[in-house]
Parts: sequence; structure tokens; C-alpha cells
Amino acid sequence: MADPRPYDPEWIEAERARMADIIARHERIVMQFSGGKDSLASLQMVRDHLEKITVAWANSGDAFPETVELMDAVRARVPYFVEIKADQPSHIAAMGWPVDLLPVSRTPLGRIVNRHNLPIMQGWPVCCGANLWGPMVNFLREFRPTLVILGTKATDERKGLDCDGSIVDGAEVLLPVHKWTHDQVFAFLKREGVEIPEYYTFGTTSLVCRHCTAFVAENSGKMRYMRERHPVDFGEVQRRLREIKRAVSVDNAALDACIIG
Ligand code: SF4
Repeated sequence: MADPRPYDPEWIEAERARMADIIARHERIVMQFSGGKDSLASLQMVRDHLEKITVAWANSGDAFPETVELMDAVRARVPYFVEIKADQPSHIAAMGWPVDLLPVSRTPLGRIVNRHNLPIMQGWPVCCGANLWGPMVNFLREFRPTLVILGTKATDERKGLDCDGSIVDGAEVLLPVHKWTHDQVFAFLKREGVEIPEYYTFGTTSLVCRHCTAFVAENSGKMRYMRERHPVDFGEVQRRLREIKRAVSVDNAALDACIIG
């Protein structure tokens, strides 16, 4: 069946019917919900089955107030809502700022070995693992769903479960917007009357953590949004990004010096 282009009511209804058949086969269903546009669209796609679905939000502990507000609205709307809360601020204080390029002398162990007291850093997968993915996986192991619904798209730069229809750890995976593009998701939300968070006027990525210093390749829109709406957090994140740039520049210069010929 063809993908929606960009919003095809018939195709949407056929997809809803396909999802209804899948959902009818299950009793223990979890939807991983971040509050971003893809999970909003996924929730809307299964809106007629919410009485069977537990909506689970992994809150790192550093969520934006607008995300908390959105989650409160969803919590009030769905029968089953679980918040899985981590303590990202404490984790970052102990392990360092998350980064895309890691100067190893700035890791906690590097700081001991290199005997400095400069800000420490960590690779972002460790930070996301500790504060988002790990807590969610622990919850799923305990809940033991037979169906997991996620807002993953095939076109996403990074994705966890990218296997619509497969069985992973005993649970079937359902990705309602798997084949969709960003534009199709936006068109769908608009046509269905779902409010699109304001930060999407600045870019296509979701907000997640207020003090995240990683994913810089895609976060310039987020930075512009923060400058407008969260100037205090923006100032702190900018301070950290400048320090990260300094640390990376030192390693880059040393790398350049060793590339000879
Ligand atoms: S989004 Fe950034 S700050 Fe939040 S958990 Fe992931 S790496 Fe850490």
C-alpha cells in the first residue's frame, strides 16, 4: 500500500484498521511516548484503543516545562500513564556534559590521570543510556508487554527499534509512522487538529533535555528556540558549548600536528 502523500484520509484509515487488528491480538501494550511530533502522531493513530495502552514517558529529570505541561495533558487524557523518572542533573554532575566529540582527558578518569579540575564530559550515548533508554528498558522488563508502540521513523537519523512488525524480547513492535517523512507527520497532525508544539517552528527535532550539549548537528533550531523562550537555560548551555569547543579544539590541534605529509 502506498504511503500517505502528504495526507491521504483513505490511507490513514486503512492504516488505523491495520493497527486495530494488531492491537486486538494483545493485552499488555506499552507506547513509548516522548511528546515529540512523531509520538504525538503515533498516539493519534491509535487514539481509539487508549483503554488498552499504557503510555510510558521516560523523563530524564531535565525536561522542559512545556514538555511537562504536554505530559500532564496526555496523562489526563489517557487511562494508563507511567512516568519513568531519572536524575540527569546528578548523572551529569558525576559523569560530565554529554558531547558528540569526546576529549578523553575531560572524562572523569581522564581528569584524574591528567590532574586537572576542568569541566568533565561524556559521550552522549552513555548519558542517554543512563537517563532515558536504561530506565525505559528496566520498566519494559518489569511490565513485560506483548506489544510495544514507538514513534520511530525509517528516515530518523538515530533510532532504537527500527523493525515494524518484528518480535523483540518477546514483544511485537508497532511503528505507526515508520514510513512517514517529517512533512507527512506535520500534515497529519495539522489535519487531525493535534496541536503542534511551538518549538517545531524552529526546527524538526524535539526538545528532550534542557541542558543537553550533544546532537549539535541538529540542534541549532533548538538553540534559537531556547534563546527566545528559555534565556537562562540558553545562557548556561551556550557557556558549556563554548567550553566543549575549547576542549575539542585542543585535541584537534594535537591531531593536526600528528598528521604529517
Ligand atoms: S538528551 Fe542529552 S542530556 Fe538528555 S539524556 Fe540524552 S545526552 Fe543526556
